[in-house]
Amino acid sequence: MKIKELHIYAHQLPVKNGPYRMANALVHALDTTLVKIVTETGTVGWGETCPVGPTYAPAHALGARAALAEMGQGLIGAALHPVMLRRRMDGLLNGHRYAKAAVDIAAHDALGKAYGVRVADLLGGVAAERMPSYYASGVGEPDEIARIAAEKMAEGYPRMQVKIGGRPVEVDIAVLRKVWEVIKGSGMRLAADGNRGLPTRDALRLSRECPDIPFIMEQPCNTIEELAAIRGQLHHGVYLDENGDDLATVVRVAGQGLVDGFGMKVTRIGGLQQMAAFRDICEARSMPHTCDDAWGGDIIHAACTHIGATVSPRLNEGVWLAAPYVEGHYDRTNGIDIVGGHIKLPEGPGLGVIPEDGIFGNPVLSFG
Ligand SMILES: [Mg+2]
Repeated sequence: MKIKELHIYAHQLPVKNGPYRMANALVHALDTTLVKIVTETGTVGWGETCPVGPTYAPAHALGARAALAEMGQGLIGAALHPVMLRRRMDGLLNGHRYAKAAVDIAAHDALGKAYGVRVADLLGGVAAERMPSYYASGVGEPDEIARIAAEKMAEGYPRMQVKIGGRPVEVDIAVLRKVWEVIKGSGMRLAADGNRGLPTRDALRLSRECPDIPFIMEQPCNTIEELAAIRGQLHHGVYLDENGDDLATVVRVAGQGLVDGFGMKVTRIGGLQQMAAFRDICEARSMPHTCDDAWGGDIIHAACTHIGATVSPRLNEGVWLAAPYVEGHYDRTNGIDIVGGHIKLPEGPGLGVIPEDGIFGNPVLSFG
């Protein structure tokens, strides 16, 4: 089965009740990029990549489309074998894993549809049909975030992620204390996500002043070197997110004992094929991790859900989707939603989500 046509679409996703605030970005609307593969037998596969604006990661919407434009013609005639396809993409363009991920996801979708199986089956099989998600609050004031935590706990979310950073650390400490008062004893797990925004001084203080609160610290500081410098003085588990760029980095930080787990993004690491390898590395070291992506719509949500379904439940920290934060679905019947803090794996073949005809308008680029 080979790629006969490849089409690239640009689509605007409005943020519900926006903007969404993180330590280093305000998000009003997302510019997402869709990839449609048509095989020589007419099977269609969809992929997506959607950077959260230009400052969250070294990735941006126009960059994704430029990278896809660079590779597009070279992918015509490529076989839908995910490992071979990744090598072919690497032979056409260095880096830009977040753009390659859209092609990888589309290839998995087309393969699943052609074989009549779900993408999760292609990725190793389904460990759970219903997966835990987690709720990520924006950076906010103590009472407001505690109110959100109570609401999400009541909805059934098993985990709450509080965004911190970009302001005096005293406020972040007050937020974590308030949230813990609300969720203590409930079994709800807590993560404090700095999104690279804390100086080591503040990360140390946060951990030192909250030794009684069992949160994990997700990507508190900007670099792996900063984390390594303070790692021995922290009272809390540390997860890597933004700096977990590729498998080589994952192997390095796991091997050196610098982290206890990961927040991982499907597009950052290069797609589902690389994500499956990441999952297996984590399992070999008993490291919990998430299967997320940085925003996007139903296609990326389905991709995260399918890989999440294959993760050993004891290590699954949840699948985070932007679904509660963006307006509308690509597929009104099978679009992905979070219900009671959990996500149901779609039933159809491939990703199980089929965008409505014409929803993305005309392609901005076509090859084949
Ligand atoms: Mg994070």
